[in-house]
Amino acid sequence: MKVAIVGAGLVGRLLSLLLAKESQFDVSLFEKNALNYADATGRIAASMIAPTAESVVASRDIVTMGHASLALWPELLQALQLTVDFQRQGSVILAHRQDEADLRSFMQRVHLQQDEDLLEIDAQQLNQIEPELANHFSRILFLPNEGQIENSQLYQQTASAILASSIQVYCQTEVKIDDAQISFNDERPKQKFDLVIDCRGLGAKGDMINQLKVLRGVRGEVIRVKAPEVNLTRPVRLMHPRYPIYIVPKDNQEYVIGATEIESQDDRPTSVRSALELLSAAYSVHKGFAEANIIAMQSGLRPTLNDNEPSIDVSQHHIQVNGLYRHGYLLTPYILTQLLNVISAKTNLSLGFSQQQLPEITSLIHYHETNH
Ligand SMILES: Cc1cc2nc3c(=O)[nH]c(=O)nc-3n(C[C@H](O)[C@H](O)[C@H](O)COP(=O)(O)OP(=O)(O)OC[C@H]3O[C@@H](n4cnc5c(N)ncnc54)[C@H](O)[C@@H]3O)c2cc1C
Repeated sequence: MKVAIVGAGLVGRLLSLLLAKESQFDVSLFEKNALNYADATGRIAASMIAPTAESVVASRDIVTMGHASLALWPELLQALQLTVDFQRQGSVILAHRQDEADLRSFMQRVHLQQDEDLLEIDAQQLNQIEPELANHFSRILFLPNEGQIENSQLYQQTASAILASSIQVYCQTEVKIDDAQISFNDERPKQKFDLVIDCRGLGAKGDMINQLKVLRGVRGEVIRVKAPEVNLTRPVRLMHPRYPIYIVPKDNQEYVIGATEIESQDDRPTSVRSALELLSAAYSVHKGFAEANIIAMQSGLRPTLNDNEPSIDVSQHHIQVNGLYRHGYLLTPYILTQLLNVISAKTNLSLGFSQQQLPEITSLIHYHETNH
């Protein structure tokens, strides 16, 4: 079966590797940038897997899929033989005295799957998990079940695995999708496939199977620093009047400080205002950030549908997955299980990487008789 996957972003690259494991599939992967593109949305991302913290702003379905994905990530990495750092040591939420009302509001709105998902801890308890923060904050929340993944490693390892696999890779190749056909921007003839899976993120704008869905970008800016004087071991969120700011530890004493959330399609570099806000917030959490070096300031657009929910749209030869918004890492393993179910049903093959009993989310998959 000839399958085209368009877009080697977070979803497309993992899906192509899962399908390439099955001898019945002849997989082609089309990507408009390089596989290791440093400014890819999924690479800029902080890659937190934080269903409890996100429950304050996300739907119940997203929270349910997020909890499922937390449990699925290790199985997915194992199925693809990836040795990417994945940790589940929880995250810490802090507020300066003037923002304590925001913390109270957070506690009123948070949705817990189980009581143990959120603990109010004191400075002494914080000292045991993040000693360098203990003296500055009196109101502290600990979300012990949340996780994060080292996304630079994920992108590098999946790029190598794709190049070493049987997948036919077309990089630096922007293509168009016309149902089961792929067309190029140059003289190359169209290619026909049995199944085309559209994982283009924002690249699918104006080309949705369900025309009632409107895709937009939601701008996010992050700053990556190297901070040898800071030793944090898990993501830290800081209540902030405009948007919650997080500091996420990465390899080699690097930290991602992010992220703004701006309703704008503007993809220009990070603004001075955002840089000032993000860096001063980081400095207010830990004075060691004063001596840090800025490695990169990056901005990206989160692919977002009208209702801010993810969607899998399916027609006869064409599957479109989109709308992962600020939840790509939170949702992708669950989304992949659902994509594999859809492909299993089309092919009568038994596909999957997990034996877990997963919750059913009826709002996720939509079947369409025809395209467009
Ligand atoms: C600042 C920021 C912070 C974030 N932090 C987090 C976080 O902590 N946790 C979390 O869960 N999520 C986070 N996200 C969200 C996450 O990165 C996205 O949800 C995720 O990347 C979406 O995955 P995707 O595969 O749908 O799309 P993408 O990752 O955008 O991939 C789409 C791919 O398609 C390619 N493409 C597009 N058009 C074409 C075409 N015509 N032909 C060929 N290729 C094409 C693109 O080049 C791209 O590689 C963050 C995002 C941003 C911007």
